[in-house]
Amino acid sequence: VAKAEGRACYRFYNEEMNAQAVEQLKMEEELRHGMQFGELELRYQPQIETSTGSVVSLEALVRWKHPLRGMVPPSEFIPVAERTGQIIELGEWVMAEVGRHCRYWDSLQLEPFRVSVNISPLQFNQSNLSQFIRDFIESSSFAPHRLELELTESAIMTDAETNIVKLRELKEIGVDLAVDDFGTGYSSLSYLKRFPIDTLKIDQSFVADLSSPDGAAIIDAILALSKTLNLRVIAEGIENEEQMQYLIRSNCELLQGYYFSQPVYPEEVPDLLRKNFLAQLFPRH
Ligand code: C2E
Ligand code: MG
Ligand code: MG
Ligand code: MG
Repeated sequence: VAKAEGRACYRFYNEEMNAQAVEQLKMEEELRHGMQFGELELRYQPQIETSTGSVVSLEALVRWKHPLRGMVPPSEFIPVAERTGQIIELGEWVMAEVGRHCRYWDSLQLEPFRVSVNISPLQFNQSNLSQFIRDFIESSSFAPHRLELELTESAIMTDAETNIVKLRELKEIGVDLAVDDFGTGYSSLSYLKRFPIDTLKIDQSFVADLSSPDGAAIIDAILALSKTLNLRVIAEGIENEEQMQYLIRSNCELLQGYYFSQPVYPEEVPDLLRKNFLAQLFPRH
């Protein structure tokens, strides 16, 4: 009996694996098609400076408008692109698109602002990442300090000794470096101190958990850490007034979340830059 059951289990497991593999292959094929036929788009979500209420940076977030499936969220296709290696081509497209949008914004002579671009672990692990970024900066006459790369905590902490060199190469170009989803991985504090990073980005799960004592304690600890290490700090995923108030009171420098704005089309960026998002806290005198 056991043997028969074992075989049934094995077959079941196999079928499930097959279904997953088929689904991934399908997604891979559709994503290749989508990239080729312009189904990807970028949106930009503002990052607001708490001392002024104005937008000082924008995070580029990719969107996939699938003709049949509708909007496919990045949480579904980025992991596939990461496994298949398509993230490399996708990442190149993202940078080119960011360059194009910046030329458009510059033509409107807007206030200067930073643009944050997400770099996935596989992209970060490419040996030619810094060359790619250098080429981008040189070919686009883009002021390097205007570009911030968001790297995940786990990507930079895995093989940290090698990554220090890599991060230094990127810093030499002059770009800013942020640690995304901070607090969800396993940071070694001694490495954190040695890494040439500029910004800690507090993961949105802690902001969502802010109403619990544990959530608030973690946020307080990250804010204290960033102060000690002299790093810029941003909280993401702000969805309500209470979260905003707490973070402002705790001197978190930058805020990002649906409470202020969803990620918007590039054409909507000029309006965002003219707006004061904390007008109720900074009434006009
Ligand atoms: P992330 O870099 O941590 O980006 C933040 C995510 O939180 C975005 O989801 C954003 O739309 C969402 N978000 C912003 N404000 C709020 C809020 O108030 N509440 C909640 N619940 N969510 C909020 P999105 O756009 O779906 O992207 C998900 C992830 O996909 C990103 O997480 C990033 O890791 C990845 N991703 C997005 N675009 C790119 C890209 O161009 N390249 C790479 N490599 N990864 C990307
Ligand atoms: Mg990010
Ligand atoms: Mg994040
Ligand atoms: Mg995330």
